[in-house]
Amino acid sequence: MEGVHLVRRVLTAATAALTLTTAGTMLTGGPGQAAPTGWGRPTVTLAPQPGAPGLGDSYFPDYGNGGYDVSHYDVRLRYDPATDRLTGTTTILATATEDLSRFNLDFLLDVESVRVNGWAASSSTAGAHELVVTPARTVTRGQQLTIVVRYAGIPSETLVGGYTGWTRTDDGALAVNEPESAWWWFPSNDHPLDKATFDISVSVPTGVEVISNGVQPRPPLAEAGDRTRWSWRTTSPTATYLAFMAIGQYDIVTDTTPSGQPVVNAYSTSLGALGPAARASIERTAEIVDWESGIFGPYPFEAQGGVAGPVDGISFALETQTRPVYGPGFWRRGANTYVVAHENAHQWFGDSVSVADWRHIWLNEGFASYAEWLWSEEQGEGTAQEVFDFTYASYPADSEFWQVLPGDPGADRVFDNAVYDRGAMTLHQLRLAVGDDAFFEILPAWTAERRYGNGTVAQFQALAERISGLDLDELFTTWLFTAGRPDVATAARKAAAPPVEPESWAKIQEAHGLLAH
Ligand SMILES: [Zn+2]
Repeated sequence: MEGVHLVRRVLTAATAALTLTTAGTMLTGGPGQAAPTGWGRPTVTLAPQPGAPGLGDSYFPDYGNGGYDVSHYDVRLRYDPATDRLTGTTTILATATEDLSRFNLDFLLDVESVRVNGWAASSSTAGAHELVVTPARTVTRGQQLTIVVRYAGIPSETLVGGYTGWTRTDDGALAVNEPESAWWWFPSNDHPLDKATFDISVSVPTGVEVISNGVQPRPPLAEAGDRTRWSWRTTSPTATYLAFMAIGQYDIVTDTTPSGQPVVNAYSTSLGALGPAARASIERTAEIVDWESGIFGPYPFEAQGGVAGPVDGISFALETQTRPVYGPGFWRRGANTYVVAHENAHQWFGDSVSVADWRHIWLNEGFASYAEWLWSEEQGEGTAQEVFDFTYASYPADSEFWQVLPGDPGADRVFDNAVYDRGAMTLHQLRLAVGDDAFFEILPAWTAERRYGNGTVAQFQALAERISGLDLDELFTTWLFTAGRPDVATAARKAAAPPVEPESWAKIQEAHGLLAH
């Protein structure tokens, strides 16, 4: 989730224009020619083409790029909180999937040089966030590529449509955002369809902490000039928007779970009186992940944890892989384990199984929100049915809420409240339709079959139909793809009394108030 919708609209319009232009170029500029032989059977020789500037996402057509597949990012940075200056070298290991005359990366900072397999390459910028790389030698399909990009910039002052996804704070910065985050700190193939592993290392003035994904392959290392280099490693496939950095003044708590997983939690020292509530929530991560593993299937990653961001940082929370980052607002009324259940449910639904297209955001937010309802039931703070009844009743039939389609909300409504609340209601209706046995077989089957991959709503429906043996077309069409409030005989309506507010409701709504818009 995230929270910048005016900007999203601007970006969408700008990128749509870019895609049209570039697609036009590709259509007219393709040098491929049929070369008829004298034998009546033409031999087609295709010259290398430019890689596509996008992966064809239906909401964000120029996010990601065509022509290559990344396996690893080595992101080596130097950062100065006093100036917000970021310099670095990112080494990208990739395989070409086509013959390429050139290819794109998604990136915004100033590029000093690009090398492809050791040869200096030329680069230029295009559109809203495209770095166009023309290698000295043509790239052939199947070729292993080592792309080295050296760069520098001030991410907080690098704007697209007036917007930066980088958050500068009093004592550092947060590289945490969805879906646009990578552009401000490493060049990438920025779409969940192309996942990769990461090594992220950052040199900062000694005394500043850096937290990122996965585990620390070595302790922080002293460098010349009173600096320290922090290193982090992710060994599971990671979507680019789920890589993160939190830089600043943090208290770090490390531990090992009963299941043997490393835990790294970090708390901004700026939290003050909010600190205890943050700890009382995030320190329960291992317990919540263990409980979720019993429902969703084995935890997919190599580490766990959470980062409580500073008071002047982000206002939302994000399911950054192995270690969600939380804004301070969640702790204002005391501990909130619902947001911890939500962000960690995303480790299965969103991180391990990612959207194949941003249109399928319900597969992330509907499921993470339903995890909160299950957690409410587990905590004895209201059953999922009671939360359903109260949620359903809290949105009048004529509310705008019912006009947003969770199954296809639109590019500027990816994080609309309907994707969360109606999304969770949809899963509850599915549970009622197929029964608990089938429902709790469908969830782990989904995470097992698509582990480290991608999914679509249609694929989830097909799995639910296969396991339940039911035709679920009407249910999915009604709840995900039809405007208006579906008619439901809720338990409370049968009793002709208004539903009672579950104990969990205020905390769930507090979380969704910050997560959704
Ligand atoms: Zn979420």
